Amino acid sequence: MKKDERLSGYYDEKVETLPWEEKKHFLENHLQRAVMTAFQHAPAMREKFKSAGVSPTDIRSLEDLQALAITPKAQMRQLQHSSPPFGGFLGVELDKLRRIYSSPGAIFDPEGHQADYWRLQGVFFNTGFRPGDRVLNTFSYHLTPGGLMCDEALAGIGCTVVPGGVGNTETQAQLMAELQLTGYVGVPSFLQAIIERAEQNGKDFRRDFNLEIAVTAGEMLTDASRRRLEEDFGILVRQFLATADVGAIAYECGEKNGMHFADYRVIEVVDPETGKQLEAGQVGEIVVTLLENPVYPLIRFGTGDLSYYEDEPCPCGRTSPRLMKLVGRVDQVTKVRGMFIHPSQVEEVVAAFSEIQAAQAVVEREQDRDKLTFCAVLDQKSSQETLLSPLQERIRTVLKLRADVAFVQASDLREPEKRILDLRKWD
Ligand SMILES: [Zn+2]
Repeated sequence: MKKDERLSGYYDEKVETLPWEEKKHFLENHLQRAVMTAFQHAPAMREKFKSAGVSPTDIRSLEDLQALAITPKAQMRQLQHSSPPFGGFLGVELDKLRRIYSSPGAIFDPEGHQADYWRLQGVFFNTGFRPGDRVLNTFSYHLTPGGLMCDEALAGIGCTVVPGGVGNTETQAQLMAELQLTGYVGVPSFLQAIIERAEQNGKDFRRDFNLEIAVTAGEMLTDASRRRLEEDFGILVRQFLATADVGAIAYECGEKNGMHFADYRVIEVVDPETGKQLEAGQVGEIVVTLLENPVYPLIRFGTGDLSYYEDEPCPCGRTSPRLMKLVGRVDQVTKVRGMFIHPSQVEEVVAAFSEIQAAQAVVEREQDRDKLTFCAVLDQKSSQETLLSPLQERIRTVLKLRADVAFVQASDLREPEKRILDLRKWD
């Protein structure tokens, strides 16, 4: 199948392309029902409204959600433990569940009977799978929902699934070749491993395989890894974001410029300290509210993942904003002048310059203002003058903050293992 055919069309054109103002109304209509369901049927959610002094009818707009606290994923284990098995978040009786999973961190995740429970069908169609694809699904089928949630969604859009699960590189490489599989779902590094194994065994990927599309999640898809798979092996590569708690969160369209918010959930990017919604471009925690899910009516579930979004129109015609990239986890952020920065962002700046051997972002407090200094250790032969302005530019792009640049010796770095050194004192 041609790449253009895979990347044209919509799973649900009407919903995906609704002009943003109308889409917002659409989401808010669903949201009003979702908060009512949560309040009426999930005791833990009812508590959340009560402690905020808010009634479900107060939540009418997406902005109104800010009145409610965030339920962090990090607390889920403890909440479930004190009120087993689902911490009071379940909206139906236990015997109405189809499956119960156990995810890393010993968190239980419920699944209901409704079709496309995890809302991944649209994700797989929009990332490029089409009816008739034969897909190797390498997410785990044991205990965690990853394998089954992808399996059912692929089948739901007319694909044939080979339930590969995790590991067994040799067997999976063989299956991929012998069954002439057209699709792959899993982490990007495992696809690399399968290809390498096949080539070690004397196969020629372009000749012996028929893999046209790979849709990845669960691991950072680096530009280098995507380029290799796309250019060297001719595979169309897209990625999506989902979790075991909420299912689909976001997915890439044909334009490959960020991941559109998935439908039937409200996605917010918020300040993890205050819970306030952030503007486009600002790094914060991804928070999810499920719509049309009476089984697990989660309102403001904090995923712990940090990202930022853009809401410029996307040429694909879909109107939902896009998560640009995952920046890291919420427990590792440092707030500087109201913006969150994460160690991985410092590493990203460094990665753009082969001349930089080490770097550290140092945060200090001067005259009641945060001062950020990007300390860089250069190799011997590089010139500070040539590097200064491209480095400053890169820092602004990646950290979204202005910083002073200081070229230092490796021995000048204090606690050099830290990418961010916070020297501020708060009395
Ligand atoms: Zn798009």
